[in-house]
Amino acid sequence: MTPDVRPLVAGNWKMNGTRDALGEIKAMAEGVVGPLSDHVEALICPPSTLLYVATALCTDSPLMIGAQDCHQKVSGAHTGDISAEMIADCFGTHVILGHSERRTDHAETDHVVRDKAAAAYQADLTAIICIGETAGERDSYQTLDVLKRQLDGSIPDGAHAENTVIAYEPVWAIGSGLTPTNEDIAVAHAFMRSELVRRFGDEGKTMRILYGGSVKPGNAEVLMGIANVDGALIGGASLKAADFLAIYSVY
Ligand code: PGA
Repeated sequence: MTPDVRPLVAGNWKMNGTRDALGEIKAMAEGVVGPLSDHVEALICPPSTLLYVATALCTDSPLMIGAQDCHQKVSGAHTGDISAEMIADCFGTHVILGHSERRTDHAETDHVVRDKAAAAYQADLTAIICIGETAGERDSYQTLDVLKRQLDGSIPDGAHAENTVIAYEPVWAIGSGLTPTNEDIAVAHAFMRSELVRRFGDEGKTMRILYGGSVKPGNAEVLMGIANVDGALIGGASLKAADFLAIYSVY
C-alpha cells in the first residue's frame, strides 16, 4: 500500500468468457457496491466481445470495465484489432497494455506498448502497463534491469497518476501458482516507485503499482499489505465473482 493512494483490484479475463459468464460480472457489480468502494477501485477486463454488454450491467455499480489491448492507431486497415476509441465508445475506462502474453504471442515491444498507451490517453482511457521479468532473467539477477528498461520504454511522456497504472507481473508467476517472496516483491516495487518518482516527480509518488501473478483469495491479504503494492492484476481468480470479491474484500 502507498499512503493516500486508492488501490485498484483489476481482473484480466484473457481469452475466457462467453455470454454465459455475464452472470459473474453481474454478481461482481452487485458485490462491489458499498462503503469499501469509496476506498478501493474494482475493474474487470473481459474479452472485447463482452465489453459493451458488460458495461451495461455496471451502470448502477462502481465496478469499472476495461479491455485487454488496443491498437496504437486511431482507425484504419488493421484487421482484427480494436482501437482505444472503440473501447471508450463501449464505455470502457481502462485498457491493459503490454501483458506478457501480448509481448510473447504478438511480439509486442516496449516501443509498441508505449504507442498503444499514448493512443489510450487520446481516448481518455487509463492504461494499465504490464512489465515483469522472465524466469531466466530472474535467475540471472536481471530483474531490476528488466524493470527499468520496460518502465523507460513502455511509458509515454504525458503519463500521470490518473491515466497510468503499472502492473508488475513476473512472467514466471503468471498462472503458475508461484509468487516471488514478499521481500522480493517489496524490493521490486520500491525500485519501480523510485524510478517513477525520478521520471515523473510528485506524480510518480501516487502512480499505482499493482502486483500480478497467481494472486488468489488465500494470499491476497499478505500481498496487498506489502509497501508500494497498490492493488492487484488478477487472472484466473478473477473469473468467478466469489474469488474476485474475496480479493477485493481484503482491503
Ligand atoms: P494469474 O494471471 O492471476 O492467473 O496468474 C495474472 C495475469 O496474467 O494478469
